[in-house]
Amino acid sequence: MNLVEKDKSFIWHPFTPMAEWCSGTSEPLVIERGNGVYVYDTLGRSYIDGNASIWTNVHGHCHPKINDAIIQQLEKIAHCSFLGTTNEPAILLAEKLIGLFPSNSLQRVFFSDDGSTAIECAMKMAIQYFQIKGQSERCRFVTFDNAYHGDTLGASSLGAIDRFFVRFSDLGLPVICLNSVEELNKVDCKEIAAVVLEPMVQGAAGIRLWPEGMLNQIRNWCDSNQSLLILDEVMTGFGRTGKMFASEHESVIPDIMALAKGLTGGYLPLAATLTTSKIFDAFLDGEENTFYYGHSYSGNPVGCAAALASLQIFEEESTLASLPKKTQHLSKVLENLKRENQKVIDIRQCGLIAGIELLGSDEIIGPEVCNVARDYGLLTRAIGNTVVFMPPLAINNDQISDSISALQKAIEKVLG
Ligand SMILES: *Cc1c(COP(=O)(O)O)cnc(C)c1O
Repeated sequence: MNLVEKDKSFIWHPFTPMAEWCSGTSEPLVIERGNGVYVYDTLGRSYIDGNASIWTNVHGHCHPKINDAIIQQLEKIAHCSFLGTTNEPAILLAEKLIGLFPSNSLQRVFFSDDGSTAIECAMKMAIQYFQIKGQSERCRFVTFDNAYHGDTLGASSLGAIDRFFVRFSDLGLPVICLNSVEELNKVDCKEIAAVVLEPMVQGAAGIRLWPEGMLNQIRNWCDSNQSLLILDEVMTGFGRTGKMFASEHESVIPDIMALAKGLTGGYLPLAATLTTSKIFDAFLDGEENTFYYGHSYSGNPVGCAAALASLQIFEEESTLASLPKKTQHLSKVLENLKRENQKVIDIRQCGLIAGIELLGSDEIIGPEVCNVARDYGLLTRAIGNTVVFMPPLAINNDQISDSISALQKAIEKVLG
């Protein structure tokens, strides 16, 4: 058997209709290496990593600084438990993360493995916080239509994308799902532990932008009703929207923030749930109030070393300062794409995150367009008929142009 045959025999891929994947006609790419914004398959073909390896990569692949940091840490130790011991990279990373926020705001870091666990941790923190405070009736969460917060059962009870979550909707935690911020007025606030939101833009919903001012409105509602605000910056964190964190666009500080995908620059699985001293301090009162939650690889030193290196690159390469020019260039080429192609019916953009919505008939054609775009050197995915373009922040303007012209060719080929 060759590699692809073995894959089709032994592997179950995430979010993948496996009958189609395993069929004789599918030709999965076997990715062998990466360099900057390019990835290369085993047949030697190169592709621009147009969705930053599912929204994780920040500074490009095989960045020498992150590679070095990982290798150096590996030569010391790969992992040792974070239950009862600690390690230097995790300590320095926690300090660094806290330093990214105004002083006396988010002040504690809880490490876990991925976006879903960062959200699970946030939910349990919120529930236990109110139990400690003698308000155990506050055990519900408010979420919004089309939300996506991960796939573990707690996180998926917040999810409101039918195709992924409707099967499990009766089995999870109690959630109230709203269509708009105005509907908050109808909610019985005394039951609400927290409002959970992807700030500025919902990713998995198909790159949907929130109205301006919404973050502030929700912050105010939470303050007036003593509910917590959990912001899920798993996708939007680390420069994706043009600022380090999307919540900075409206100067909102949540009570709890979940970080993952771009935390290590997209090199290793690591997540962090950040919270305030107010919440942390409540757990200090007696052994019975301890937060009995954690994962085997919490605080993994190799992941933390990668994250520290990634944050150092933000400083050394002035990553954030480089973004406005790239964002403007992307807007310009996307406007051209829309003007020149009637099959492009909507463009939604926030920083270097873009959703390009195509005119579908009864058929979903987004995945087919992405499939064809590979032939022109662009690797990305679609959500329904919305093609997602969310490249590593390290992409340059020429590479942005190349990506969108590959997409244009693919749209013309599939839709005429
Ligand atoms: C990807 C994502 C998650 C889940 O993260 P995983 O690392 O895949 O578990 C949660 N929230 C948002 C907004 C995401 O985009």
